[in-house]
Amino acid sequence: MTRVHNFSPGPSMIPLQVLEWAQAELVDFAGSGMSVMELSHRGKVFEQVHERTKADLRELLGIPEGYGILFLQGGASLQFAMIPMNLLGPGESADYVVTGTWSEKAIKEAKIVGKARVAATSKETNYDRIPDLGPSSFDPAAKYVHITTNNTIFGTQYHALPDTAGIPLIADMSSDILCGAIDVSKFGLIYAGAQKNLGPSGTTLVIVKESLLGAVRETLPTMMRYQIHIENDSMYNTPPTFGIYMIGLTARWIKEMGGVAAIEQRNREKAGMLYAAIDESGGFYRGHAQPGSRSTMNVTFRLPTEELEKLFVKEAASESIVEIKGHRSVGGMRASIYNAMEPASVKVLVDFMGEFRRKHG
Ligand code: PMP
Repeated sequence: MTRVHNFSPGPSMIPLQVLEWAQAELVDFAGSGMSVMELSHRGKVFEQVHERTKADLRELLGIPEGYGILFLQGGASLQFAMIPMNLLGPGESADYVVTGTWSEKAIKEAKIVGKARVAATSKETNYDRIPDLGPSSFDPAAKYVHITTNNTIFGTQYHALPDTAGIPLIADMSSDILCGAIDVSKFGLIYAGAQKNLGPSGTTLVIVKESLLGAVRETLPTMMRYQIHIENDSMYNTPPTFGIYMIGLTARWIKEMGGVAAIEQRNREKAGMLYAAIDESGGFYRGHAQPGSRSTMNVTFRLPTEELEKLFVKEAASESIVEIKGHRSVGGMRASIYNAMEPASVKVLVDFMGEFRRKHG
């Protein structure tokens, strides 16, 4: 078996241990004589999988009482629409901090549904930072404040939460959920597509403070209502059962790794190795993100010329370093180093960067 060093932004690598656990019980799950994919979502065996997944997430993230845990479909992109659909009443407005492509898409949906305002943005510097935020950044009448905690394309991340002076905070954590400790009680709603830190694509985790959900407009279709999904414990329709199971295995893996604090430390060390390689390259590698906003999940950097960037991708591939090419909005490289990425693979990349610079610098 050969596994490559997969730096893909998503769907991204899954811990080998998780894949092996799934492989071992793929055709006969827990003595049921069926694959987990063949189990009824309403049966006892799957119910245990679902309950254990929720309990492990609750433990790992410290999710308090009063917050529901939902597994929905439609990706993080459907949440861009469901959030304003459920939370914005007639005439009400929401504030968005626009820090990249995904927050642009989030506010676009909110504007289709109701009123939304850009509270702050770093667009003018090509999203190279998280803007300075304070209570005065926000409209005191805003129904909620939306942030994108990690900007997958630009490689920036919040390292402190904004003080919204009591306005409910809503966060897209698609690319950094479970990368480190968070205080869930500070949020009204958290959502994340699974395909980076949680498991395979097709499932969206939503953590929602139930008291935030009031009456919704009568014209809102049933499947769009958080309240319906809460009342039915994600079982209003057939949920993504295999995805829930895989998220459960990922949660178990994080627990075995020592929990979120241990994962956070490991992530800091991995990102630290890469940023050091950039900072100590004498300007050969140039990071896109401002140092105070650097992401521990997506490390974006450029080389002196586009020719060298093409060559970097090509030569990296011969070292089994794949999916390292950056998004066109930034250019250059992007190393996505989510929870599953092994420090040893980051070391392979850092060594390659050193070699490449010596050869071509
Ligand atoms: N938000 C962020 C931060 C993302 O990185 C992505 C996808 N890469 C999305 C939202 C969109 O997710 P999906 O494709 O699951 O709709």
